[in-house]
Amino acid sequence: MTPTLWLSCHVDYACRHSGVCCRAGWPLPVETHVVPPIDAAVRDGRVTTIDGAHVWLMESAEAPVGMAGVLRQGGGGCVFHQPRPGDRPDGADGSASSPRHCVVHARLGSEALPSTCRHFPRVCLIDDRGVRVSLSHACPTAAAMLVDHVGPVEIVSGPPAVPGLPVPEGLDVRGALPPRLTDRVLMDLESLTAWEAHLVDILAGPSTWSAPVDLARDAVRVAVDRLAAWRPSRGPLTGVVRALGSAAGAPARGMASPPPAADLAWQAWTRAASACQPPWAPEPLPRAIELSDGRWVAPVWHDAAPVVRRYLAARAFGAWIAWQSDAAYGLVAWLDIASGVLRAECARAAGAAQRVLDRPLLIEAVGQADRLLVHYADLAQLRPGREAGGY
Ligand code: SF4
Repeated sequence: MTPTLWLSCHVDYACRHSGVCCRAGWPLPVETHVVPPIDAAVRDGRVTTIDGAHVWLMESAEAPVGMAGVLRQGGGGCVFHQPRPGDRPDGADGSASSPRHCVVHARLGSEALPSTCRHFPRVCLIDDRGVRVSLSHACPTAAAMLVDHVGPVEIVSGPPAVPGLPVPEGLDVRGALPPRLTDRVLMDLESLTAWEAHLVDILAGPSTWSAPVDLARDAVRVAVDRLAAWRPSRGPLTGVVRALGSAAGAPARGMASPPPAADLAWQAWTRAASACQPPWAPEPLPRAIELSDGRWVAPVWHDAAPVVRRYLAARAFGAWIAWQSDAAYGLVAWLDIASGVLRAECARAAGAAQRVLDRPLLIEAVGQADRLLVHYADLAQLRPGREAGGY
């Protein structure tokens, strides 16, 4: 069994058929090997499409090896996403008037689904230590778990990322060198594990989980400065990580205060949006975003701190950026971007609703933040590093 680790706020995740992924309009790839059983079920009527046509796959001659094409869209989403038998039909405008379900999942089981459908909203990192699973909060079920979680968050052992798959898909770095600590030295996996646990603890763990977001940001900056100062001549890196201990929240000597969260937010959002390729890019922020922030978000930002910190822990845990950039300043700059994007999306959601940030708006905001950061932004373009993240 491959060891699989989760955050405690995510470990009980199960699909509740919100259908957001099925109705997102995203091009959903289909592997060649899943085509024959679905084709057979469509032909013999066990599985139907929403418009009754037998065509469900948009084949592509340019598809990579092993891929057949993408799922056909129709009726406002994937053609297999349909009202359950006996439910009311949709409105004339295509609006869903009752909950829908996936007929492939219902009739053939989850194993018959294309890989993307089986994995969403899981974001997996596979390395020589095992599998780390985080969730994209673009799924409202995952977003609600994050927002509604009570108490501190820890890294815990959990079930396989995807039922029936011993090793999930994701960023697979098995056999690769460990991430860089800085541009001069690599980490080792034991130190990486300890650093990851320390970050989660600073952000949302038992020792500091009720503190304001800015305090967590300060604590992370202190820790990363100490870590990056390590040189092999100073003994094992794990010792440095473990000695970070209760430094959480202590301001670094001579450290300038970071700019206010709202100012960082617009910069971070703009930077993330610039790493997207149309048409998979977010709606521009409204012109009145600063007014919305000042009226509906800033006054209650302290109350939202536990949610914001859990969100940052989710983006820190198993973060691909640690391998694609580095595990110190690169990872922490990524968290700064995540923090800013979430603040901007909170202001957008609250401004649109014309009310103070509350639970439904937080669920919407973490969802929009992850659409941008997890699904649309090209991490290779973002590549946050020391120069980019303000650390
Ligand atoms: S195949 Fe099923 S799970 Fe996948 S997008 Fe279509 S309806 Fe959703």
